[in-house]
Order: sequence, then C-alpha cells, then structure tokens
Amino acid sequence: MTATVEGSGSPVDAGGPKPIYGAPRANWPQFGTYLFILVPFVALIAAVPFAWGWGLGWVDVALAVFFYTFTCLGVTVGYHRYFTHGAFKAKRPVRVGLAIMGSMALQGPILHWVADHRRHHAFADRDGDPHSPWAFGTSPLALVKGFWHAHMGWVFDRKLTNAERFAPDMLADEDIARVDRQFGLWTAVTLLAPALLGGLLTWSWWGALTAFFWAGLVRVSFLHHVTWSVNSICHMIGNRPFKSRDKATNFWPLAVLSMGEAWHNLHHADPTCARHGVQRGQVDVSARLIWIFEKLGWVSEVRWPTPQRLAKLVK
Ligand SMILES: [Zn+2]
Ligand SMILES: [Zn+2]
Repeated sequence: MTATVEGSGSPVDAGGPKPIYGAPRANWPQFGTYLFILVPFVALIAAVPFAWGWGLGWVDVALAVFFYTFTCLGVTVGYHRYFTHGAFKAKRPVRVGLAIMGSMALQGPILHWVADHRRHHAFADRDGDPHSPWAFGTSPLALVKGFWHAHMGWVFDRKLTNAERFAPDMLADEDIARVDRQFGLWTAVTLLAPALLGGLLTWSWWGALTAFFWAGLVRVSFLHHVTWSVNSICHMIGNRPFKSRDKATNFWPLAVLSMGEAWHNLHHADPTCARHGVQRGQVDVSARLIWIFEKLGWVSEVRWPTPQRLAKLVK
C-alpha cells in the first residue's frame, strides 16, 4: 500500500504509525552542531569591522558569491523542493549531485533536514512543529522567545526527528544514505575548496586564509541565517495572499537572498509546487534553475503552477 509522507506530498509505503522521534543525537554530532553554527556566527560578527581593513579582496567576494549561490540552490532546489516535497523527478546523477550540493550548505545531513522539514509541514505552527515561532504563545515575551526558537534555538534540540517515520523513501535509497553518511567529508570540502581556490588564484597562503574566512566561514553563516529567517520571519511578518492552515507569510525583502524561498505563504498553501514566487514580479531563482534543468532534460514531471490551481489557492 502506498501513502504520502505527512505534509510533503511524497509517496511512501505506509507501515503504520511510528514515533515522531528517532534515536537522540550522539555527543560528537551534538558538539559538531555547536561548532559549525557558533564558530561561523562569531566569524560573521568579527567580519564587519574586518571588512573595512585589509583582509578582503575581489577573489574572496567572487568565491563567497559562488559558494553561496551553489550551496543555497543545493538546499532550495535539492533538499527542499526536490527531496522533501517531490516537486519534480530527477535523473540519478542529478539526484546525487543535488544531495551533495545541499550537504555543502552545512545545514545538517540530508536525512535530518528532510525529516525535520516534512515534520514542519505536517504540524505547521501546531504542537509537533520543530520550529514554530508561535510555540510559546502570543504575548510579546513569548514571541521574542518563539522567534529565537524558530530562528536557531530549535537546531540545538537533541531530540531528532524520526527519519523512519518522515523520510523512509530517502532511507531506502542507498545513494542518498551514503551522501548522508559522508556529511563529514562534504563539510571538509565546502570549507577547504574556497581556501584552495583562493590560494591558487592569488598564489599565496594569505589568499587561502582570507578565502577560507569569507567564502568558507562567513558564507556558511550568512546562508544559515537566511534559511533560518524563512522559518522565523516568514512565519511571523509579511503578506498571506494564499490559503494555508498555518501562519506562513510571503516576505519580499528576502526573495533574492533566499532564492525564492521567502514566498513561503504560497509554499505552505501548495507544498509540492516547483515555483514559490507565482505572482507577477515575484523573483524565484530556484524555479528558474529547475526550468533550466527541465530544458536540459535533467529533470522531468515538474509540478509547475497552473492558473486553475492558483485560483483555488488565492484568498
Ligand atoms: Zn514554513
Ligand atoms: Zn517546505
């Protein structure tokens, strides 16, 4: 018998109800969570006065923009629209490539990310949602606490979403399970590749160090906060032109940096839709990349929005 993974639209074999949580996170991965979130964050703050000094050049900027775009699309097109929601079908090398690109954003191994996000949709802004800003109530103090929790507090929760319940389709795919196990390798690659390129392009150790700092640490941290802002800001502030059962919003100032993910109200109204920015002038770079992949024949069965469907979703 086939059913749908809650909230995601992805088909799986239903094996009866399973618990929400799986095995808790072990000590080393828990330590790694702190290390790779807090160290880049401190680097980001240190970067501000640093920027006006001596350790930043065009090579660093170009590498940072390149790795930001590459890994952000890995999350938005790969982890999110494809793996979590099944917005299109992809050929095997594209599937594995997207899993690796998403891993290089350092937002956790793919199985965790997908299981967490499917749980978010299954329980959006209700009990069981891993990161709702409304979890503590609606008083000003509860909302401050909720904002912190939705933005990054939830990441430190040692109770991990049960992938067997929320991502059985991914667990069953040996290629994806392998990329998941290789998360340490992709962590090293995403931090060392900018250093290597910076060193080669400037032919200096100093160039390697500044590229590691800007295109490695600062870039990772900046993308963390943009992604987390979709969880925090885009469930609190913005417009809600579409019918969704939760408090998801469209928040235009983040549209470009989030590569289209800030059109979050439409996304919750129609989770499997490949395009989130569906209205006039709503920039959605991720949807454009999916369109290019479709033209190249790399992906198929893309769930593009239709006027009839949108008419039903609009308030
Ligand atoms: Zn959401
Ligand atoms: Zn989603």
